[in-house]
Amino acid sequence: MEQKFTINLPSKGKQYPNNQSTISISTLVGDDEELLAELSKHNVANTFYRLLESKVDNFDVKQLTLGDELYLLLWLASNSYSNEYPVSYVCPECETRNESIVDLNKLEVISAPDSVNIPVTVDTSFGKVAVRLLTVGDEIEISKIKEKSQLYKWARTLITTSNRSLPTSITEVVEYLGKLPVSDLVAIREVQDKYYYGPKLESPYECPSCGFGGMLNVPFRPNILFRLV
Ligand SMILES: [Zn+2]
Repeated sequence: MEQKFTINLPSKGKQYPNNQSTISISTLVGDDEELLAELSKHNVANTFYRLLESKVDNFDVKQLTLGDELYLLLWLASNSYSNEYPVSYVCPECETRNESIVDLNKLEVISAPDSVNIPVTVDTSFGKVAVRLLTVGDEIEISKIKEKSQLYKWARTLITTSNRSLPTSITEVVEYLGKLPVSDLVAIREVQDKYYYGPKLESPYECPSCGFGGMLNVPFRPNILFRLV
């Protein structure tokens, strides 16, 4: 009954087993709306994980990078409901409030260049480290942590260091990161932006009142994307 679609992932599977770069996915059904209705700011990571797990066939969803996850969520919204996504904004020139209809299918998508390797090697004052991209599974674990959640987040992305072995437990890695110069932490966390592969949440606009134009930030609003009532 459900129609299956094959999707090419923006990350091109650089971080996945066997570099799997396509997945099979189906559009939303009534049961998925029931699941999405439970969405609250406290369970975002886990709800989207459960949704994708029920829609994606041949892949361990916890391993998805955040860019691929966003790409799939927007694909589900666009192909299950509508590609038209209303975004309201205030014109910075004439201060009129306008509504722009963003076409979700026309958002720019950054795809991984073939030359890029993940994990990424980063130079720090304690030697070279290998850093991977954050995943859906990471987001779920991070959402359970209250203290030191930022250090915990970056600790999860560290794989190896070249000149000393990384502590084996994540608690020790968090302590280790807590003693590092902040310049090293910057280098480690910058990997997530520099190697982001997924949709760009921005769209061109032109103010209907004064003609001023530019790029509009497109906010990720699940209640509008998924028609939550
Ligand atoms: Zn204007």
